[in-house]
Amino acid sequence: MNTPEPTSTANVPLENGQNMPQNAQENAHARPTLIGLDRDELGASLTKIGVKDKQVRMRVEQLWNGLYARGLTHFDELHTISKELRQKLTENYTIERPQIVTEQRSNDGTRKWLLRFKSDIPGKPGPEAEMVYIPEETRGTLCISSQVGCTLNCRFCHTGTMPLVRNLSAEEIVGQVMLARDRLGDWPLIEADDKNGLPDSKRMITRLVLMGMGEPLYNFDHVKKASILLSDDAGINLSHRRITLSTAGVVPMMARAGAEIGCMLAVSLHATNDKLRDELVPINRKYPLKQLMQACRDYPGLSNARRITFEYVMLDGINDSLEDAKALVQLLKGIPAKINLIPFNPWPDSPYQCSKWAQIERFADIINDAGYASPIRRPRGRDIMAACGQLKSESERISNRERKALLGE
Ligand code: SAH
Repeated sequence: MNTPEPTSTANVPLENGQNMPQNAQENAHARPTLIGLDRDELGASLTKIGVKDKQVRMRVEQLWNGLYARGLTHFDELHTISKELRQKLTENYTIERPQIVTEQRSNDGTRKWLLRFKSDIPGKPGPEAEMVYIPEETRGTLCISSQVGCTLNCRFCHTGTMPLVRNLSAEEIVGQVMLARDRLGDWPLIEADDKNGLPDSKRMITRLVLMGMGEPLYNFDHVKKASILLSDDAGINLSHRRITLSTAGVVPMMARAGAEIGCMLAVSLHATNDKLRDELVPINRKYPLKQLMQACRDYPGLSNARRITFEYVMLDGINDSLEDAKALVQLLKGIPAKINLIPFNPWPDSPYQCSKWAQIERFADIINDAGYASPIRRPRGRDIMAACGQLKSESERISNRERKALLGE
């Protein structure tokens, strides 16, 4: 199958000064960010610029509300604090989001942004990753990245063809959501005195999935910190139940994800036997199916109301036979599960073809008949290469030696 040309793509002009000139960005980046900090860290940042101890807690809450409930983009918009403090904040800190390099709109309403994060090396552009927003009738899903690049090398995944550049920090993970809210006009509290905010039915982003670039469980600490912040009900307020973390099966971290983050879990399964899974999802050689399925059975909080989503990419003639479907049912026995069948999304030179539609439906029927929900994920945003596994950026990894040479170490 050929990837359609992105002819219907519209590059949308940027507002809000988000496309800042490069040197303004660099200056801003010299100042530490307040995004991604927990309340204690935020308090310490305020103490540093002279806020008195007994005022710190109140100021933290004011900032928290401004940053995460109202989405302010400049400290000057924070009218609940004095002009003097606003000035000090502006001089010492930044609340800038990642930079938008391009913004594309698919003919089905899907939006894709190429984002640039902070550069680690002066004079070199920062690493880039993509973020996708998928609107549906009654909800909207934002798909964000946890790493730039990936180490997993899944055979059918485009992101897997690029090396890991680096982990994204908690700031950068939270920053993605803030940027999407900026661009979608999705901040719940528009006015400072608005207590109720946008009703749920008007929210654009109702679900967050860590299904962009990277393996979130290989960046556990930052993902955990970001998720806790994102679910805070005095701020961005996307509860843990609305955040889904997708893993290819980093078994030792799965229990911790359930216990410490408490988000919903998706597992990229794609095969029902080790021989095939070793090939498609090479991390299986390290953590084979038996261990993976046990970790799923043990996932904290697992219940019929909190089922695990198993993702299964449909590859023509590879994993899509009716025997495979029956084996899948066997494998999942006893696990509260939903199976998400993902039609394979092609990318240039990809080694596989998508299964025939009729075959996907037959496959889904077998799983359905066994009592599992098995929605077929409608491909979205294919015309702008925004569908699952199509994300890739040109960012290259910089070797340690090169990094040291550039930094003069
Ligand atoms: N590393 C995590 C997060 C990536 S999520 C994980 O593996 O779960 C991206 C999802 O899209 C995964 O289920 C992945 O296996 C799937 N995917 C990757 N490439 C794809 C492609 N070309 N077509 C359809 N799905 C794909």
